[in-house]
Amino acid sequence: MRIAECGLRSGEKEAKEGMERIKNYIDGRWVDSRSGETFRSINPANIDDVVGVVSRSGREDVDQAVRAAQRAYEEWRLTPAPHRGEILFRAAEILLRNKESLGKLETREMGKILSEGLGDVQEAIDMGYYMAGEGRRLSGETVPSELPNKDMKSVRVPVGVFGLITPWNFPIAIPGWKVFPALICGNTVVFKPSSDTTVCAAKFVEALAEAGLPKGVLNLIHGPGGEVGEYLVSHPGVDAVSFTGSFDTGKRLEGICGAIHRMIVTEMGGKNAIIVMDDADLDLAVDGAVWGAFGTTGQRCTAASRIVVHRKVYRKFAEKFKPAASRLKLGDGLQKETDVGPVINESQFNKILRYIEIGKNEGAKLILGGKACRKGNCSKGYFIEPTLFIDVAPEMRIAQEEIFGPVVSVIKAEDLEDAVQIVNRTPYGLSSSIYTQNVNTSAIAERDLETGIVYINASTIGAEIQLPFGGIKHSGYGRKEAGGRGGALDTYSRWKVIYRDFSGRLQRAQIDK
Ligand code: NAP
Repeated sequence: MRIAECGLRSGEKEAKEGMERIKNYIDGRWVDSRSGETFRSINPANIDDVVGVVSRSGREDVDQAVRAAQRAYEEWRLTPAPHRGEILFRAAEILLRNKESLGKLETREMGKILSEGLGDVQEAIDMGYYMAGEGRRLSGETVPSELPNKDMKSVRVPVGVFGLITPWNFPIAIPGWKVFPALICGNTVVFKPSSDTTVCAAKFVEALAEAGLPKGVLNLIHGPGGEVGEYLVSHPGVDAVSFTGSFDTGKRLEGICGAIHRMIVTEMGGKNAIIVMDDADLDLAVDGAVWGAFGTTGQRCTAASRIVVHRKVYRKFAEKFKPAASRLKLGDGLQKETDVGPVINESQFNKILRYIEIGKNEGAKLILGGKACRKGNCSKGYFIEPTLFIDVAPEMRIAQEEIFGPVVSVIKAEDLEDAVQIVNRTPYGLSSSIYTQNVNTSAIAERDLETGIVYINASTIGAEIQLPFGGIKHSGYGRKEAGGRGGALDTYSRWKVIYRDFSGRLQRAQIDK
């Protein structure tokens, strides 16, 4: 029997070239939703290109997926962690084998340029290998008891069934950040990806299925976040939730989970900033600003949407930044010469253009871009020109609210203290950076910047999976993603503390010393 026939693949190719039929993955089988309804996943660089026709789930599908995860939990939690790790290692190998095709798929479904699509897949591979290795660690502590003939230790135990909800901007990496650590810790999972990147999500799950994950351990459901996502988060069979997406959605889900005493981790938006000091290497800072502002078309939670420049180098920086940004080529990310791809969908496209109008009306000076591109190979997609505002006041809406597109604000600062205050005075606190040659300046910035991540002489983007990732204030709540101890392992496991008394008599701590 061919793999497709025995239900091991996410979808069958439709008659039209390249369009996939994407199903849910429940209890080890690829299945249509109960209703049989579907929706489409579209290439944002060419809206005539339908990447997938996707099962639109309802509550019954979620119920089924949660039941499958509950059933699988009993066996999976008792599967030795090194063996769980071997399966994850195989999944990472499969992702590596398919890296090229997955990277291309990411570009087609999400729009990021191919080198970034490949980087996104690599991040999931890295996380797979990292968490596979954790299968042979997952260490706790043994410490001496104050009493004789007694030992004590802390051990990590799984939480149960995790509901995982992911955004579209890292369609394989973010599922990797969540699924690999959740599984290594012995949890089972119901995963609901963004409706904009369902095909990537299905291919990621396919790799884990092919690696030999037992049925029910990882379940995938597609459908509208407000319906199936929210139902999943509040489902009585779910023990904990990990969400990445916008602040509005995350805050709503925190409220739901708070009311039912359910653990939730949220990673949300950002209004990240680069500080450029008067002693900075300006060419390096410009490179960092261009990459931070326009990489992934500005659609990274860590994108540099504000550049805060010391007054002494303000004009000089702007004079270098504008030509560097204007050299960026907009287009389909599969074409080699493209630097900046489309934005994800019509609603983001309209939102970004609205913010550009807001910036103009607020009195910021538009010196580059500022409009949609509908020429040449941009004619069929959601393209917006790299857009640069200067003379932006820190309190303007374009300097305070997350735009999530290729729009950057340059703000003048008097000195280091002023720059740090400007960076800190937004509701968000995800990533920041400073360009300076002075070690003392960098130390003060490192101490005083109120963000979860700080970069020195590098842009606001580029986190690596070995360290915890996440923000403060409106950027994140609860424990962190990525990293090991202090990061993802703490998020996806609970501590259990065990005291064993082998003295054969009553021994009272703090009393019988
Ligand atoms: P979003 O609209 O909040 O959606 C995120 C996910 O939540 C999607 O899967 C969505 O499903 C689902 N969802 C929407 N409403 C829901 C509800 N009421 N209950 C349960 N689930 C719901 O965010 P997005 O537009 O996909 O992503 C962009 C945002 O993510 C930005 O703010 C960005 O900064 C943030 N982000 C943060 C990080 C980080 O690590 N801090 C990383 C990446 C992105 P549907 O797609 O079906 O609506």
